[in-house]
Amino acid sequence: MQRHDVVVVGAGLAGQRAALAAIQAGREVAIVSKLHPLRSHSGAAQGGINAAVGKEDSVETHIYDTVKGSDYLGDQDAIEFFCREAGPTVVEMEHFGTVFSRGPDGSLARRAFGGAGFPRTIYAADRTGLALLQGMWERLGTERFTLYEEWDLTDLVVREGRVQGIVAFDRKTGEFEEIAARAVVIATGPYGRVYGRTTNAHSCTGDGVAVAYDAGAVLKDMEFVQFHPTALLESGILITEGARGEGGYLKNAKGERFMSRYAPHVLDLASRDVVSRAIVTEVAEGRGFSGPYGGYVNLEVMHLGREMIESRLQEIVDFSRNFAGIDPVTEPIPVYPGQHYMMGGISTNLHGETSIRGLFAAGEAACVSIHGANRLGGNSLLETLVFGKQAGIAAAAYAASAPAPEMHASDLDRAAAPLRAWSSRTDGEDPSALRTELQQTMERYASIYRNEADLLEGLRRVRALKARFARVRVVDQSRVYNVNLTDALEVGHLIELSEAIVVGAYARTESRGAHARTDYPKRDDAHWMRHTLAQRTPDGPSLSYGPVTFTRWEPKERVY
Ligand SMILES: Cc1cc2nc3c(=O)[nH]c(=O)nc-3n(C[C@H](O)[C@H](O)[C@H](O)COP(=O)(O)OP(=O)(O)OC[C@H]3O[C@@H](n4cnc5c(N)ncnc54)[C@H](O)[C@@H]3O)c2cc1C
Repeated sequence: MQRHDVVVVGAGLAGQRAALAAIQAGREVAIVSKLHPLRSHSGAAQGGINAAVGKEDSVETHIYDTVKGSDYLGDQDAIEFFCREAGPTVVEMEHFGTVFSRGPDGSLARRAFGGAGFPRTIYAADRTGLALLQGMWERLGTERFTLYEEWDLTDLVVREGRVQGIVAFDRKTGEFEEIAARAVVIATGPYGRVYGRTTNAHSCTGDGVAVAYDAGAVLKDMEFVQFHPTALLESGILITEGARGEGGYLKNAKGERFMSRYAPHVLDLASRDVVSRAIVTEVAEGRGFSGPYGGYVNLEVMHLGREMIESRLQEIVDFSRNFAGIDPVTEPIPVYPGQHYMMGGISTNLHGETSIRGLFAAGEAACVSIHGANRLGGNSLLETLVFGKQAGIAAAAYAASAPAPEMHASDLDRAAAPLRAWSSRTDGEDPSALRTELQQTMERYASIYRNEADLLEGLRRVRALKARFARVRVVDQSRVYNVNLTDALEVGHLIELSEAIVVGAYARTESRGAHARTDYPKRDDAHWMRHTLAQRTPDGPSLSYGPVTFTRWEPKERVY
């Protein structure tokens, strides 16, 4: 058995930042990651990171934009803390080695992003996530820590309400191991693969969220799913909001810049939920283009000129050329919304503390909540760093006085037994078929627009898939890099989390931020100005509700 003070699960920006903070606080730290750290989804972030720096912008406006963007569901104490930390966080990342793009006078270049009252998104061309992840990894590399690379978390061990450690297995050997820990930080990132059309990497399967949920942790606001307006048709690859931030715009098949109907003031730079609904409406009402991959609209950047496009939007040029066979310098880019970000996650306060003692969470796996019902672009890279650090500090402080963890041999057996059972079946369900059906179900019944009948049918189908998953079968018997086995594990997690999304969405009879109910089109502050809390029971999620923290901003109608 391995033993550590603090075990951080996940090596994206949130996990690495948490690990660094815990090491700096004097604790002995291990990181467990199913991917090489630099392959984490953080590295795919394109558009940038928000911080109010420079004289013209202000932290106050950043706070207000975030509160409004959240449709007033974000906790305002956490948002205030978050926005104040933004400037120092970006400067720190520069000191760690991240090279940001610069303006002509040498100051940090900033671009406009949706829902922001000022151009405050700092970027490194359109590879901001990679630049941050590399800077972070170089900085972390100067410290001592243990790395379990290509290890999958399968279980969290909790006794008497306190975390004792985790069980994980090494993909390279198939061996299970108990890793005892005084404190555990979950930073396993998003679960966008619940949907078929997503900008998220294949690895984004919400493992840490599902494992924590299984161990009794409370999940928050799971029904709020962000769809990015401009995912490349067919593949779902992201075309950054930076393309519109630099002056690109959307057009329908009639050649109209249709956003003037939906957001007359800020047009294409309205927040993501607004633009996504506009595109869906244009296509549904017959003003979109149609093709073999369904309806779509065009994103045009041609008018920005070759030099600007090729210098500031290099990645989207490559993506469009390689994955859609079109050249954005001379042709419009066909786009349609795709799942992009999960506002919900493991419920934490602003120190990353969860409902279980010794368990902390940060990054996209967590829900603090600063994004409320809708996240603003550029705020989540910042969230990984700000709250990753807080979770690391809190985990280190907790570990300093926590009793020595106790792991039992039965913990390992309990975690390994189901996976062994999957492999010993001679008959059963194929995990990849279950995954495809789940994704189709969520696309069809719990997407951008929702209603009672769809959500009920969605729930029925998700539960049927859950029942079938109980008979899942892993055909591949090898121990080394058994992708069939990791697939099964991940699909199980996706099914659990889908159920929490659908149950939360069905219960919330209002429209707020990214949760748009056609049968309840209005925001209903009297009943629904509250966070959804979900706990796992054998019969599915049990819901309760918690208050939203207000400091200075009273709810207003949200118009752009
Ligand atoms: C295409 C794309 C572009 C984006 N662009 C922007 C942007 O411009 N600005 C912005 O603010 N936000 C952006 N976002 C959102 C932002 O990048 C993410 O929210 C953020 O990077 C998530 O970081 P994380 O550290 O929480 O998780 P990740 O970076 O996803 O890291 C998760 C880690 O957990 C590990 N892990 C997962 N499961 C297990 C397991 N079972 N066992 C062990 N380890 C596990 C993985 O190996 C990985 O190291 C973008 C997201 C996408 C998908």
